[in-house]
Amino acid sequence: MDKNKNKQKKKPTPQGKFNAYWIYGLIILVLIGINLFSLTSYKNEPINMAKFKEMVTRGDVDRLEVVNEKYAQVYLKKDAMDKEEYKDATQPGFSGSNPQYYFNIGPPESFQKKIDELNQALPGEKRVEPIWVEHENWLGPLISWIFPLLIIIGIWMFIMRRMAGGGGAPGGQIFSIGKSKATLFDKSDKVNVTFKDVAGLQEAKVEVMEIVDFLKNPKKYTALGGKIPKGVLLIGPPGTGKTLLAKAVAGEADVPFFSISGSDFVEMFVGVGASRVRDLFRQAREKAPCIVFIDEIDAIGRARGRSAMQGGNDERENTLNQLLVEMDGFSTDKGVILMAATNRPDILDPALMRPGRFDRQIGIDRPDIKGREDIFKVHLKDITISPKVDPKVLAEMTPGFAGADIANVCNEAALIAARRNKKHVEMEDFHDALDRVIGGLEKKNKVISPKEKEIIAYHEAGHAICGWYLEHASPLVKVTIVPRGIGTLGYAQYLPKDEYIVRKEQMLDQMCMTLGGRAAEQNIFGKISTGAQNDLDQVTKSAYAMVTIYGMTDEVGNVSFYAMNQDSFQKPYSEETAELIDKKVRETIQDQFKRAKDLLAHHQKELEILAGQLLEKEVLLKSDVERLIGERPFKDEHIPFVPKFIDPPVPKGSKVSDEAPSEKEDNEEVDPKEAIKS
Ligand code: ADP
Repeated sequence: MDKNKNKQKKKPTPQGKFNAYWIYGLIILVLIGINLFSLTSYKNEPINMAKFKEMVTRGDVDRLEVVNEKYAQVYLKKDAMDKEEYKDATQPGFSGSNPQYYFNIGPPESFQKKIDELNQALPGEKRVEPIWVEHENWLGPLISWIFPLLIIIGIWMFIMRRMAGGGGAPGGQIFSIGKSKATLFDKSDKVNVTFKDVAGLQEAKVEVMEIVDFLKNPKKYTALGGKIPKGVLLIGPPGTGKTLLAKAVAGEADVPFFSISGSDFVEMFVGVGASRVRDLFRQAREKAPCIVFIDEIDAIGRARGRSAMQGGNDERENTLNQLLVEMDGFSTDKGVILMAATNRPDILDPALMRPGRFDRQIGIDRPDIKGREDIFKVHLKDITISPKVDPKVLAEMTPGFAGADIANVCNEAALIAARRNKKHVEMEDFHDALDRVIGGLEKKNKVISPKEKEIIAYHEAGHAICGWYLEHASPLVKVTIVPRGIGTLGYAQYLPKDEYIVRKEQMLDQMCMTLGGRAAEQNIFGKISTGAQNDLDQVTKSAYAMVTIYGMTDEVGNVSFYAMNQDSFQKPYSEETAELIDKKVRETIQDQFKRAKDLLAHHQKELEILAGQLLEKEVLLKSDVERLIGERPFKDEHIPFVPKFIDPPVPKGSKVSDEAPSEKEDNEEVDPKEAIKS
């Protein structure tokens, strides 16, 4: 029954449109028809002046009427009608009181003259005198008014419909602009995502399991007087499976699922956002129990009253207010559960997060190694792989990757294997897919002069050597000088550990390693190049973070300006402190640069061996490096278990490549691909 209801609900639009347009069309056709009919019904056969003269000369014409000084209507005499030559105009069904022929008269004066001349040559009984009559044609002018009017109305309706995002409601309900644009997945087009499709995210699944249970048998909870959370906010970096999880909840609970993005509420008209929120909740209440999922809720949920410099905030605030009101307005026994996703919880309005609204907040992190293995398993199911492909190894190779990145790597590997005409995807294809995802497309034809190549080789070897001999640097995976992507001339790839906190020594070693490229150039060639721009960018960010966010220097002290810096245009510290920060940052970087130079000077022999081999082979793996310069003096250390609530996550590592800098938001987390590149 429900199914039918849904179907009926879904379909009315096209049908309604169809009907409305048919009615308009019909009216127009009838009008045109009437008009034509009224004009032509008594005009029978067209003739010309010569034929008319013949008729008159034969004495067959009874009467001549000139209508509106335009055309003449010829009435035949009764007895003439039976004549053979007039058969065409006197067919069966013809009414004798109508004219049989008509013709255009041309200028009235000359017509009168012609008639006079004709009459003079004829005997009295054959003569005809034109009768000048006026026929009022009321429909002609009416149509000439109605047509433009109809066209204007049509255009107006078209525009309104377009503005309403094509929300074509029947019979010109133009005001559907305020309707919500949520996509509804319900029983007819079932959400077929279940928890099986969501790998990892164990804790999050446990949390949302309760919601599934509630949606399945709400009585169990309400009978005891318990209240189920109205809203669940999924917080996590992009691509970690927030949408997927929300869909899985709907799929598991087998309830309708409304999906909408925060930006869908925003329109250029004032009040539209609020009206769409109202409409969304109205629809949701009709379909209850159901789940409403708002993706990227930060588009409307931004804290009010912030960034007052920008205009046009009122509309967003109205929308948010309406959302808050609606959330207060429905009680959970109705069974509408709101889920929302964001990766910027810091900018959300506190009113959204208070209990009674989004009172359940579920953090969804990038997956750890086990999680990645599970996600690989989910996505490897869809492709034909060789038995040698091991999800565990793949998971080890992809630290910092989110679910979406992993899905991308799997797809890329399948494409590469297909290009190579293979029967199944092999490990080698996954390696290449990873290279491609991390570094970009290989540029085989990029022309690099030998001198430049030498500089690049030493630069990358510098990174590799520093990393090799620094205790806290991440272990090396490979170093290459194959140019890739946009402006990437080479990179050293490391394997950062899955860690939630980073110690000061690690940050310093990482900086030292990042500066190793430039240090090598300086040591070997005595000159520095532009190749280190990205390294410097990373190092500067890290150094500022150390001083102003993580409070890692004695002079500036245990202070963090992270949140305060975001709020206002004014610095939350004095000029003096600003100077101190700058000084400390510069000192830190300088120290690490010196450290890198000293380290490289100490290992000059190894540096030269590596650079030489790089020039020859272009790619060196960890095993090659071991063969060339011996084992790394440090074993991979194990960090003791650290509780997860220590946050925010510290940017892991830094990119060591000669890639052009990319534009990023200030407080964006470090990109996994960058983390791995360092
Ligand atoms: P978000 O909403 O967090 O930005 P999505 O849920 O849209 O991310 O995820 C994008 C894609 O990444 C999904 O369609 C899925 O293919 C893949 N993905 C992400 N996380 C997972 C996961 N935990 N298990 C399986 N696939 C995942």
